[in-house]
Amino acid sequence: MSVLDPQNLSELKFTRNFGVMAHIDAGKTTTTERILFYSGKNHKLGEVHDGDATMDWMEQEQERGITITAAATTLLWKDHRLNIIDTPGHVDFTIEVERSLRVLDGAIAVFDGVNGVEPQSETVWRQGNKHKVPRICFINKMDRVGADFVMSLNSIKEKLQANPIPIQVPIGIEDTFTGVVDLIENKAYIWGTGNGENFETTEVPADMKNDVERVRMETIEKIVEYDDELLEKYLNGEIPTAEQLRGALRKGTLALQCFPVLCGAAFKNKGVQPLIDATVFYLPSPLDVKAIQGFDPQNPEKEIICKTDFDEPAVALAFKIASDPFSGNLAYVRVYSGQLKVGDSLFNPRTDKKERIQKLVKMHANSRSEIQILRAGDIGAVVGLKFTGTGDTLCDAKKMVVLESITFPEPVIAVAVEAKSSADQEKMMAGLEKLVKEDPSARIRIDIETGQTLLSGMGELHLEILVDRLLREHKIQANVGKPQVSYRETISTASRASYVFDKMIGGDLQNVRAEILIQPGAKSSGLKVESKLITAKTNPIPQDVQRAALSGLREASEVGPIAGYSLIDMKCELLDLSYPQDTPANEAGAKASVALAFREAVKKAQPILLEPIMKLEVSAPDDFVGPVISDLNSRRGKVLSMNFKAGGGQIIHAEVPLAKLFGYATDVRSISQGRASFSMAFLEYSPVPAKIKDEILTHLGRF
Ligand code: GDP
Ligand code: MG
Repeated sequence: MSVLDPQNLSELKFTRNFGVMAHIDAGKTTTTERILFYSGKNHKLGEVHDGDATMDWMEQEQERGITITAAATTLLWKDHRLNIIDTPGHVDFTIEVERSLRVLDGAIAVFDGVNGVEPQSETVWRQGNKHKVPRICFINKMDRVGADFVMSLNSIKEKLQANPIPIQVPIGIEDTFTGVVDLIENKAYIWGTGNGENFETTEVPADMKNDVERVRMETIEKIVEYDDELLEKYLNGEIPTAEQLRGALRKGTLALQCFPVLCGAAFKNKGVQPLIDATVFYLPSPLDVKAIQGFDPQNPEKEIICKTDFDEPAVALAFKIASDPFSGNLAYVRVYSGQLKVGDSLFNPRTDKKERIQKLVKMHANSRSEIQILRAGDIGAVVGLKFTGTGDTLCDAKKMVVLESITFPEPVIAVAVEAKSSADQEKMMAGLEKLVKEDPSARIRIDIETGQTLLSGMGELHLEILVDRLLREHKIQANVGKPQVSYRETISTASRASYVFDKMIGGDLQNVRAEILIQPGAKSSGLKVESKLITAKTNPIPQDVQRAALSGLREASEVGPIAGYSLIDMKCELLDLSYPQDTPANEAGAKASVALAFREAVKKAQPILLEPIMKLEVSAPDDFVGPVISDLNSRRGKVLSMNFKAGGGQIIHAEVPLAKLFGYATDVRSISQGRASFSMAFLEYSPVPAKIKDEILTHLGRF
């Protein structure tokens, strides 16, 4: 009975797919590193490393550090297989959090024990709620001055409106913090100095006994609620066993009705092993989560349930593409149904292509290993897929399925990149395409008026990293412009237009009439394109011509009427595509006619210019709150609210146009003598005020 026999479906109950999520600086990296270290030790048992080998390994890890832990690492812990999925903290990379949440089954939420719940922990927590991810909480940094377990617990209750259940209490606090009392086992764990691999299990310290007994009873009372049988026994005066308590708490946690809370100090190597145990005890196995639902690409109305079963046709989701110096393209996948086998072909419904699995690999804490089969419920990487992008479904060609893709945020900021020589131009485009494929929150576009190549992304830091990778990894000499806002356009009224296209294309006379209807959509609804063609039996329009017409509409929407920015938050319907008798339907003509009808319709629909608005959270000491707010006002910012911080100072919540936030990091440092910090994330696209719009257009030379 162990993970060593993965043939058996029921063995999946020994697998956990989880992520570690946290506010920046809460200790996510430090905690994850300890998890890797403690489990890696077990994993490496028996291996002999002489000094040199160890150094080599370190060097490689440094070189490929990002690759190794970038997406998913597998480790073994007490006969369980844990797949840890990486979730970076910086808001410029929200896409990473979003895509991780899509494939993980559970998470550890890390909090800073001095500050409790912080603004960004709220953001990540809400993302977790949206994806219904069961979580355990780890209150870290119990050794820091000002650490407060009860305050942190309460902030989870109040700010997150969650139901935390403490299953530990700290022993000592700040510099006297030495370990934890396990309320389930009613035992104490004490760590000494050093790396913390070993800790002592003892009785609860005598001076804590009374307090512990009280808190333990409260915790037990809460836990028994999740198991009727246990509740009855408890009400009859019976104290449940540790195993019974864990069972009941597991039920509540999987149902998202409660969140077990642990504590420790990762940096001081204290409290991490019980946290790893808790992932096994309380987080779901792939068998515990609801089967994922997809649809049939040939008949989108038809839903398909992808059962966690090895014998079903294969279904997997590619959640990250990385280029890897050793094996080329690496596609990280979560398998939902069936099995992937080396040598098999997988079908990608989006690209309509079949691709062969050349190799399958698992990333381990300190190495990678080739495997032959990757089964439902598991996470690994496929080598050799050339046409697969992030969010793509891979399935058996005999039973096609499309899973809901990952929603990517709109890139809000762009830089112009220009190769220094024409010889480099082609290399640069190839490099850019590679980057964009790896990272769907980045895009490239050619400005039709200036001919410039624009690379856009989520924020200044994001672009900086993309550009750096372009220049270094792809060895390209290029001039890079200043960051600029990526505007969008939309329409304010519905409009209907038709166009009769009657011209030669490529030597063939085309004669086709297209009619379309466009309507404004809700904020952040993106662009929706649908066919409303009535499929007449007498003269049906072939599927590929209809598809060409819809892609013609999509392409036309990429160039707005005001300043050439793409159009969003609107719906386009193809109402008619008709041909005179005896004229065959043709893709090129269909595309041209809808694009021209679209242009007509948009002109009449009162187009407006949209700008990205960022959500900003500035944390400032009391003395600097005034200057920070007046500075935000001067940036067309709207201050929404302010909260006092547990550890002193205030948090200012505001919405500010991105156009006014370039260089904010430097400015806020100088107004606050370096004492304010902030985080910002994209909120929405909003209409640009009329006066500002004229300024922008003049600046762009569109007047
Ligand atoms: P992340 O941004 O969430 O990944 O946080 P890091 O793991 O990078 O930690 C941020 C900072 O907090 C680093 O300087 C860590 O050394 C420090 N840190 C992490 N855990 C602890 C802890 O348990 N105690 C103390 N005192 N510092 C910690
Ligand atoms: Mg970190």
